[in-house]
Formats: sequence, structure tokens, C-alpha cells
Amino acid sequence: MRPTGRLHLGHYHGVLKNWLTLQHEYECFFFVADWHALTTHYEDPASIEENVWEMVIDWLAAGVNPGSATLFIQSKVPEHAELNLLLSMITPLSWLERVPSYKDQQEKLRERDLSTHGFLGYPLLQSADILLYRAGLVPVGADQEAHIEITREIARRFNHLYGREPGFEDNAEAAIRKMGKKTGTLYRNLRRAYLEKGDDEALETARALLKEQSNITLGDQERLFGYLEGTGKVILPEPQALLAPQARMPGLDGQKMSKSYGNTITLREEPDDITSKIRKMPTDPARQRRNDPGEPEKCPVWQLHKVYSDEERQNWVQEGCRNAGIGCLDCKKPVIDACQAELEPIRMEAMELERNQDVVKNIIAEGCEQARDEAQDTLRDVRDAIGIDY
Ligand code: SF4
Repeated sequence: MRPTGRLHLGHYHGVLKNWLTLQHEYECFFFVADWHALTTHYEDPASIEENVWEMVIDWLAAGVNPGSATLFIQSKVPEHAELNLLLSMITPLSWLERVPSYKDQQEKLRERDLSTHGFLGYPLLQSADILLYRAGLVPVGADQEAHIEITREIARRFNHLYGREPGFEDNAEAAIRKMGKKTGTLYRNLRRAYLEKGDDEALETARALLKEQSNITLGDQERLFGYLEGTGKVILPEPQALLAPQARMPGLDGQKMSKSYGNTITLREEPDDITSKIRKMPTDPARQRRNDPGEPEKCPVWQLHKVYSDEERQNWVQEGCRNAGIGCLDCKKPVIDACQAELEPIRMEAMELERNQDVVKNIIAEGCEQARDEAQDTLRDVRDAIGIDY
């Protein structure tokens, strides 16, 4: 996540709640992408440092657990830069130019000069961020899928260029024989279906089959993963996108919640401010007076009920709004209560962490060290594969 400073409900429902689940299901790495902030904000870096720590406090306060996940800062693991550089040697410019967000962002951020090497190369830096940890899955929204795709292409190109070892095919065949006749034949058929007919499902099935082979060494498994795709040894495995459940948190005006629209409720919002912000929210303009019926679909408050209210309460809103049985303030009350109940523990925890910044810094220092260990392992293999490990 880019260091954006204090987080708001949009971040919480859109990203953090998903992280809270993932951290118990997978080995997770969550990092502050401070170099990425520079790709667009290189002219005004003054706020980056403060934004980094404010954001980490919000992660922790929301329940991201350093005991379950590795939390770190990108620039404290310089291996990101080294892998970025090495991958830049093999990445065609055209791949970067065709990433959809390249032109979009240039259009959107017209006031900034984004005709820089760093901005063009940011999808590559993202790829390095992912490949450095040999990540299997990357939680992203649908708009980020193109970035995972380019990461996969870069990994494939790297493996193709540098993954071949002498006698690779013979070694792979020897490994297949260790699987036994039946499984070996199944693997060969799946591999053929993928290579000759491009059957992606066959590729996935073959990968799953390999993972089940407890009698095959990890080295042989890696070799066979590479053999599957017609390349050599897999040094940088291709990641998959893990599409995050779509949770659209509307802002106070019904648009997407975003700092730049000034329509946010931050995770550390005081209870009174939550009340006054929601009370001031616009409603369906047709409800000028208490007796005027309204239409929830035309009202941003209804969007909040969709996030916070159960079916029974949603029915109460729909009916009460359409037949003017309830007033808009009655309707807002349960949303105010739910929002306060959700944020109160986060706000308290954040206050505690603000008072104990050393704890936060130590958690991140430890995370950076753990991340660096992993990153150095990958870099060693990468340098070795290229032949510059001297
Ligand atoms: Fe919106 Fe609720 Fe008022 Fe209907 S009753 S206009 S849903 S605030």
C-alpha cells in the first residue's frame, strides 16, 4: 500500500478487512510502498515519512498482526531496487507502455510531469516487489489485474532466459520416472495438453499433481514446474491475482470514498465527528419534507446501510423511506451507531500506538529484517541464474 497517511473507511472495507482474513490463511507480506509514492510525488516528498508511520499505526490498530504477517517498508529492503534493475534489462519498453494505467494516470494527474523513467517503470518495480518474495498470490482489485499479468510475463521471460541448466530435459525426465508409471503418464499428458493446445486447466491440474508428490525432492519439483511450461527451472514463479471481494465503501457524498474528494471518515475519527458527518450527509433530494416519500437507491445513506445493516434493518429503511414512515435522521441513526461501534476499538488502539511509537518502529524493524532474509535468498538465486554471483 502506498503511504497515504491516515486511512479511512474506504481502505478499511476495501483492503484491510481482507488482509485481516488473509493473514490467517496464508504467509503474508504487507509493505509500505514508499518508493512507489515517489514515482508520482517526487517533487514533494516532505510528507512521505509522516504518512508512512501514520499508515502503519492504522494497519496495526485495525488488527493487522505482526505475529501472523510480515510488515515492512519497501525502501528498507534494497533488494527491491536490485531486482528491479536486473529485470529492467529483460523487459521490453513496449510492455510497460501498454499497461493501461500508464496513460490513464498521466491523463488524470495532468498537473504533474510524469514523463519520467520512474513512472514508466513503476509496474516493473511492482513486479520486482512481488517476485522478490516468490509470491503465489497477490490480493488485488480487478483494476490491478494487468499489473499481475505483466509480472507473470516478466517472470516467464526471466525463467526462459536464465532457467536452463545443462541436461535439463534429462533431469526432468528422470524426476518424472520417480513419480511412478501412472502418475508420470498423467503428468506427461497434462503437460502435452498445455503445450500443444494451450489448455490452462491442464497446467493447473499438473501443478497441483506435482505439489502432492511427497517422494520428489523440492529441487526436482521446481525443475518439473519449469518443464511443465516448456521452460527450464523456475527461479521466479508466476504469481496469480487473488481478486479481493468487491467491497465498495461509498463516501459521504455517495462517490467513492477518497481523501481527494473530501468525503471520508477516517479510522481515527472522533465519535462526535462521525455523528456530525453522517447527520450532514445529503439524502434523496425528493425528500424535502418529512412527509415526502424517497427512494433509497438515490441516497448515499442507503449505500452505508448496505455495508452496515442486516436484512431486517434494510427492509425497514426501504419501506420507511418509500412510504415516508421514517425521517432521514431516524434512518441515519443506526448507521452512526454501527460506524462508531466499528471504529471505537480501532481509535483506542491507534491512540495507544501513537503514545508508543517505539513499539511501532520495532515491529517494522523486525519485519524489514525478516523480509530482507527472504529477499536475499531470491536475489542469490537470481544472480546465480544470470551468472553474476561472483
Ligand atoms: Fe436516504 Fe434513509 Fe432518507 Fe431514504 S430515509 S432518503 S434512504 S436517509
